[in-house]
Amino acid sequence: MQTWTIGGATVTRIEEQVGPNDVVAGEFLPGLVRERFEKHLSWMVPVHYNPARDRLITSNHSWLIRIGGRTILLDTCAGNHKERPWLPRFHRQETPFLERLHAAGVLPEQIDIVLCTHLHADHVGWNTRLENGRWVPTFPNARYLYSRIEDEHWNPEVGDRRARNPARARVYDDSVSPVIAAGQAVLIETEHAIDDRLIVKPAPGHTPGQVLLDMRDGGDAAVFCGDVIHHPVQVYEPSWNMRSDEQPAVAYATRRRVLESCAMSGALLFPTHFAAPHVVSVTRGGDGFVPKFASPNQ
Ligand SMILES: [Zn+2]
Repeated sequence: MQTWTIGGATVTRIEEQVGPNDVVAGEFLPGLVRERFEKHLSWMVPVHYNPARDRLITSNHSWLIRIGGRTILLDTCAGNHKERPWLPRFHRQETPFLERLHAAGVLPEQIDIVLCTHLHADHVGWNTRLENGRWVPTFPNARYLYSRIEDEHWNPEVGDRRARNPARARVYDDSVSPVIAAGQAVLIETEHAIDDRLIVKPAPGHTPGQVLLDMRDGGDAAVFCGDVIHHPVQVYEPSWNMRSDEQPAVAYATRRRVLESCAMSGALLFPTHFAAPHVVSVTRGGDGFVPKFASPNQ
């Protein structure tokens, strides 16, 4: 198990998959400047970059947070059996994700809160699972939190969205609607306190309604930032947006703000897609920041 301790909380990484992206590095990060990128080869190869195929390597994982008797799952990866022909990496997966959750000591019915940082296909997949041909909530006792702005952005019943973008509608239909139908969805407004140690805050740009989770306990701090940042080279180069950042200028501003805040507070940064060891602390340096990888302590 890969577990980090933050005050009285433990944070365990539940892996779905790690691997090369579907596209080359300069397409994944369209602002990438090759000569600046190549300065980082020594630490990126082989864990964070495959030079033979020119692919950045990313992970897809959930963060299992246990704090004060609560069990929270942050982001739910891409899920099993989902039809995603336009996303080859996540199409019709069969991964032992729930077995890995079980190995971490947690059954689906023990999850109290699911927090989706945003509603992209690789963050909502395990919201549901297939049961007798129907999509049902995977975590029957959980409240599923996500932002109202995000819901309004993705709801396929608005205007002609369903006809215009059937792929987007499909993700909402199989991974969001069943949770709403079961009465388990809780739409959160701008800032939301789960309790005094766990605050959900807006982190727009990658999507308009993306949120992050700020955790503080016993003088320690962590920021679970979803897709504010996708790859550790962006800590050095925060202006290199990722290709699906929907509002590029906002995404850059949010990334800088979050990195600045981690550099100020010493909080560990837990993104959803960094390869091993998946977590960094941040200091200021150069034109941007410098990451220091933080290995799990259990
Ligand atoms: Zn993502």
